[in-house]
Amino acid sequence: MVLIQNIHKSFGSLEVLKGVSIHIKKGEIVTIVGESGAGKSTLLQIIGTLDKPSNPERYHSIIEIDNLPITQLRDKELSLFRNQNIGFIFQFHQLLPEFTALENVMLPGMIAGKSKSKLAKKAKDLLSYLKLSHRLEHKPGELSGGEQQRVSVARALMNNPKIILADEPSGNLDSTNAEDLHQLFYQLRKEFNQTFIIVTHNSHLASMADRSLLMKDGTIANE
Ligand code: ADP
Ligand code: MG
Repeated sequence: MVLIQNIHKSFGSLEVLKGVSIHIKKGEIVTIVGESGAGKSTLLQIIGTLDKPSNPERYHSIIEIDNLPITQLRDKELSLFRNQNIGFIFQFHQLLPEFTALENVMLPGMIAGKSKSKLAKKAKDLLSYLKLSHRLEHKPGELSGGEQQRVSVARALMNNPKIILADEPSGNLDSTNAEDLHQLFYQLRKEFNQTFIIVTHNSHLASMADRSLLMKDGTIANE
């Protein structure tokens, strides 16, 4: 599902990724752990096509998602690809504060230009699945931390992504809500064979994963 080969990334003279390779199968839950500053978020941004690797030609870098080499896509194709194939979950949910839970979940579908009534139905179904039917018209500021994060899971699922990328998704939750969120990831894998790459500091989540990759000094230390 995801093939990453020899990814490098520098910010000015700072070399953050020094040749990272990862291969992830459909339905796998892979965590990435490692010290702050190791390059975990940078790697996730590159896999998610929000950022680009440095000098891909020179390093013969490969990024393939579901067999599609995305390093060759132009910016417009890339943003469409991202919208259709990748779901993101962040530590601080990044829901839009002036929109309701339902509208926040519908937004990724609006970008894809689907009919509004179909989108509303799908968003309601997802929110119901995530036990948020009673929160459709609430704005993010009126929801608890755990609820906000479940809305962001619904948003990530809206376009049936090939892969969900989560950057410290439970970093801002108490331990009960964190555990619930982790259970939800496993439920989504079981029911939909959903693939996940999760950056986390949560040792329990890392220990449950199919594989836990350790990032150190810009490389994967245990591949
Ligand atoms: P992690 O998520 O493992 O904590 P990051 O990938 O966020 O690490 O950052 C790795 C290093 O790259 C850090 O030293 C950080 O300051 C630097 N960095 C990340 N993004 C940028 C950027 N856009 N510009 C300059 N430096 C950056
Ligand atoms: Mg980070």
